[in-house]
Amino acid sequence: LRKALDQGEFRVYYQPIVSLQTGKITGFEALTRWQRPEGILSPIEFIAVAEEIGLIIPMNRQLLREACEHLRSWQSEFPSSPPLTMSVNVSSREFAQPDLTSEIRKSLEQTGVDPGCLQLEIIETIAMGDAEKSGHVLSQLKALGVRLSIDDFGTGYSSLSRLRRIPVDTLKIDRAFILHMDSDPESREIVRIIIMLAHNFGLKVVAEGTETEEHINLLKQLNCEMAQGYFFSRPADDQAMLKLLEGNHSTRAASVGH
Ligand code: C2E
Ligand code: CA
Ligand code: CA
Repeated sequence: LRKALDQGEFRVYYQPIVSLQTGKITGFEALTRWQRPEGILSPIEFIAVAEEIGLIIPMNRQLLREACEHLRSWQSEFPSSPPLTMSVNVSSREFAQPDLTSEIRKSLEQTGVDPGCLQLEIIETIAMGDAEKSGHVLSQLKALGVRLSIDDFGTGYSSLSRLRRIPVDTLKIDRAFILHMDSDPESREIVRIIIMLAHNFGLKVVAEGTETEEHINLLKQLNCEMAQGYFFSRPADDQAMLKLLEGNHSTRAASVGH
């Protein structure tokens, strides 16, 4: 992994996040890939080790820089209101770094990205972990002006009273609930309740892992704001995203349910 980092073998892939109301791409999630001579390796295979040996920190620093550079260039080529956003995952190791906020500020300054266009995704167990510590980190990040999402929502344990108080903007519903939404009434009910809860707390909702037209229709009925998944696009490189942006007036969500 160390050698791969030195030799620049990590690639950033992107997956569009689409507004269910307009059918347009509102932003992207940056996802790491390891480009080896044998082929591309998924982060599931190496993120845990990178985290364990601390390499996740320089890796994600590099990813953030590159993702911000791409975002800047897409924002200027495809101006929109509100502007396109970039979501990045914050690992537990990074979350515990005292210099996390200053590192992010540096990347934003160096790339000229508006902090409000960066969305940090933090999994539920970390965001909801040790109340005092995580609350402090979240407030610091919020003060920087970035947006915060709780990732994989529904899989951990959230204290509802804390969810109300922590400065998050978005909940991302874990794809396990979306996957069975069309066949399993219980999953559908969970999705409905999460969306209702989020809206009551003034939060927006992104559904992950949307694969079918049926998923999109159900989510639209439930007033879910945004979706991300294979239905729109698999994660792919920046060139592929550029092509999607060029056709952004006509993504598939626009035609669904009409
Ligand atoms: P995640 O943050 O929940 O990312 C979403 C994952 O869902 C991605 O897997 C994406 O490819 C996959 N996905 C998206 N749409 C669909 C769909 O319609 N169906 C299905 N079955 N899957 C879908 P990926 O890229 O393999 O990443 C796995 C996990 O690795 C991520 O889960 C995230 O926790 C972690 N990860 C990836 N890149 C980074 C990174 O740069 N930094 C950190 N800290 N973690 C990362
Ligand atoms: Ca994520
Ligand atoms: Ca997720």
